[in-house]
Amino acid sequence: MRLLVVGGGVAGAATALAARRVGLDVTVLERRAAVDRDAGSWITLAPNGLDVLDRLGVLDAARAVGWPGHTNRLLASGGRVLGEVPLGTPLAGGSVALTMKRSALSALLVDAAVAAGADLRLGAAAASVEVGTGGGTPAAVLADGSRPTGDVLVGADGVWSRVRRALDPGAPAPRYVGMVNFGGVTADTDWSERLAPGAWHFVFGRHCFTGAFPLTDGRVVWFVNEPRPQVTADERAATSEARWRDHLADLASADVGPAAELVAAGRLELAGDNTHDLARVPTWHGPASVLVGDAVHAPAPSSGQGAAMALEDAAVLVDLLRHRGLAGLPAYEAGRRRRVEGIVRAGARTTSAKMPGPVGRVVRDAFLRGLAASGVMAREVLGTTAHRLDAHLLEPAR
Ligand SMILES: Cc1cc2nc3c(=O)[nH]c(=O)nc-3n(C[C@H](O)[C@H](O)[C@H](O)COP(=O)(O)OP(=O)(O)OC[C@H]3O[C@@H](n4cnc5c(N)ncnc54)[C@H](O)[C@@H]3O)c2cc1C
Repeated sequence: MRLLVVGGGVAGAATALAARRVGLDVTVLERRAAVDRDAGSWITLAPNGLDVLDRLGVLDAARAVGWPGHTNRLLASGGRVLGEVPLGTPLAGGSVALTMKRSALSALLVDAAVAAGADLRLGAAAASVEVGTGGGTPAAVLADGSRPTGDVLVGADGVWSRVRRALDPGAPAPRYVGMVNFGGVTADTDWSERLAPGAWHFVFGRHCFTGAFPLTDGRVVWFVNEPRPQVTADERAATSEARWRDHLADLASADVGPAAELVAAGRLELAGDNTHDLARVPTWHGPASVLVGDAVHAPAPSSGQGAAMALEDAAVLVDLLRHRGLAGLPAYEAGRRRRVEGIVRAGARTTSAKMPGPVGRVVRDAFLRGLAASGVMAREVLGTTAHRLDAHLLEPAR
């Protein structure tokens, strides 16, 4: 069987690597002209995602580009600690979670897939796709007129997926979650020692929600979520990095915590990212085509699970294709839908908890303190991240 994968992000690259490990042929079409190794946002990969990396044989490669973490510390605007929530239970090797550039994760998966024999085509944007609904062979049409085909077409083309719309023209569009995301890194800051090692420090602030994570090399990774209407193309073009940083530092200066200083002294790597989620997609697959990752279930970043879900999808899908061929597609949907939709819903709840008004803030802080103290939050995180795929999934082909 040959897979034709549209998209070489986390979901597409993991699908390709999984396919090669069980002896399936795979072509990956990625519209970017080069493998992106350092751009964009930082993510924290929870233990359920690390477990899939382990099965794919790339956990050590991930450890080489990631920083270990174990806790989320929740703080009120005035600096009071509202609670501590674990990021999950450790894997056998001791890792709980790894914080890394998302592009570093997809790059290591791409590298391993190519080394294992995947056919990666860069600069190959699928202008349209034929999903094989009428019994035809699935194919993608590229800008140069070429038309690669496969036995199954895998849409791993992200939240704005073209494959999703080809499968179902009435498929839902992503929903703006009401927050714009900014992120960056600050070097040579004493916050790298003042912050607790291995912990994300989340401040539920007056005008924004911020996070800071100390790396062990003296840098601190941070982000700022600002509740506001979406950034328009005109606003983006007219706003310099320095102006965004001034604005963010100003927002964060209303709170006790590291964000204002980190933003003022740091490098902005992600500016004005309008954050979307995608809750329920009615059509996950056709007779010979299927969706994985953000193309079929994008949680808000607050869930901390989007990349881990994409990795789980890839492993489950490839194992079913290997054993059952195209007849495995309904089982893929049946096995995944409930879990991922629950995680998207939880992500939406967390996002809306970030930004109440002044009265709501006092209530919210008390509520968060109660949830953390009672262990409810920890149980929810541990429940999600303790998920492990079947032990025999993706056993290498002999
Ligand atoms: C700010 C932010 C913070 C996040 N934090 C976390 C976190 O802490 N933990 C976590 O697990 N997840 C997190 N996520 C979510 C995670 O990054 C995504 O869920 C994950 O990257 C989805 O991977 P994907 O491969 O499905 O989609 P994408 O990463 O969007 O990849 C899609 C790929 O398809 C390519 N493509 C698109 N269209 C075409 C086409 N027509 N032809 C060819 N190629 C195409 C694109 O170039 C891209 O490479 C975060 C997301 C954001 C935005």
